[in-house]
Amino acid sequence: MSDCIFCKIINGEIPSKKVYETEKVYAFHDISPEAPVHVLIVPKEHIASHNELTAGNVGIMMDIHLAANEIARLMGIADSGYRLINNCGTDVGQTVFHLHYHLVGGKSMGSKIL
Ligand code: 5GP
Ligand code: ZN
Repeated sequence: MSDCIFCKIINGEIPSKKVYETEKVYAFHDISPEAPVHVLIVPKEHIASHNELTAGNVGIMMDIHLAANEIARLMGIADSGYRLINNCGTDVGQTVFHLHYHLVGGKSMGSKIL
């Protein structure tokens, strides 16, 4: 997608601080972190949001979750805990319409969702 900011990050047109990469997944530090660890995990394939996922994306989704495990270990928060968040749609504040998961942790956040 030519005008997608995360596609541009994945293909190197826009710089990012890479944390982890596989054949299907790219992960990088959020530009505006909301926790000591705030990493964005994105599929390299452009998928606009959670709404656009299909059964054909099962491999991508497994890779995203396995990447989250690996990144949590790399960041040293696998044992202390972390949250994996997807915002889908404008009511919950999705601003970039390329599917992404926020991996946040590194501080005590309690269990409240909202
Ligand atoms: P959303 O609100 O769509 O769930 O999250 C989008 C996230 O992307 C935000 O946390 C925002 O800080 C991050 N972001 C937006 N533009 C850039 C960018 O150019 N580089 C990086 N690293 N993060 C970005
Ligand atoms: Zn994209």
